[in-house]
Amino acid sequence: MAIRILSDRKLVVLGASLLSATTIVMFSLHAAETRQPLSAGQHETRTPNNASVPGVVPEQATHAKYTGDPKSSQEAGSTTAPAVQPTDGRTPESKPGAAAQQGNSGAVKATKQVALTFDDGPDSKYTPMVLDILKQYEVKATFFVVGRQVVNHPDVLKRIHDEGHSIGNHSWDHANLTKLSPNQIQKEIKSTDEAIEKVIGSYSPMVRAPYGAVNASIKRNLTSAGRELVNWTVDTKDWTGAASADMVELARKRTKNGGIILMHSFGGKNGKLDNTIEALPLMIEALKQDGYAFVTVPELGVKKE
Ligand SMILES: [Zn+2]
Repeated sequence: MAIRILSDRKLVVLGASLLSATTIVMFSLHAAETRQPLSAGQHETRTPNNASVPGVVPEQATHAKYTGDPKSSQEAGSTTAPAVQPTDGRTPESKPGAAAQQGNSGAVKATKQVALTFDDGPDSKYTPMVLDILKQYEVKATFFVVGRQVVNHPDVLKRIHDEGHSIGNHSWDHANLTKLSPNQIQKEIKSTDEAIEKVIGSYSPMVRAPYGAVNASIKRNLTSAGRELVNWTVDTKDWTGAASADMVELARKRTKNGGIILMHSFGGKNGKLDNTIEALPLMIEALKQDGYAFVTVPELGVKKE
């Protein structure tokens, strides 16, 4: 399988004509190769044209602390939380999105593709809420899961799988891979593969590095092992607790055909992703109105418009 390493920062979606079964999203880590690697807690924004986009939090903003850390009490709390249903009227009818303001009540023909992605889960609180919304809108998404979360919440991973979403590897414990040895990286990835496989019987080649942090050798090692490194084109910054309207606005402005939108289903500022849950239906409605069909990452580029 031919893999091209590109020299610019643009995320390139290679279509099915280039690659066999799945779309491989490759990106060049120009930034990581020319600067100091990201430190833990930093969250790189790789979208090329974000400099002056309103609502984009500057890069020094930290990634949500990974609250699933072994030293954190988050897990203990979340294990007792029931699968929360979105009971506060988050329906398309009662909470019209920006799209509805256009007065366009008819269905818009989807001519473009976008992939919604949710990182850091599964958990027992937000991931089920995300799944409920996706089910309600009949949208398929892609979840990049953390191995330890899989072990703690296998039932939720199974639900993700059973409901037709794609699943990728997001390391065992949300490690910054650039801080680890090749052996440690392999362990992070392999243990997560195994945890996923144990629950759903298989694992996909998709890997998303925590914080998007990789360097040339990590990239080389992963791709030569047949892994598909998946980044994103739109960072909603949901982990900062950004207002839902701002997230929808940002997604709407920045999404292009073939885009990949980054959100989270676990973690977030102070462990909260309530704004993600609030934004998601609005974002789906708005992007639908903008002519987008929602596909999983492996489906991106497969069906031509
Ligand atoms: Zn993450």
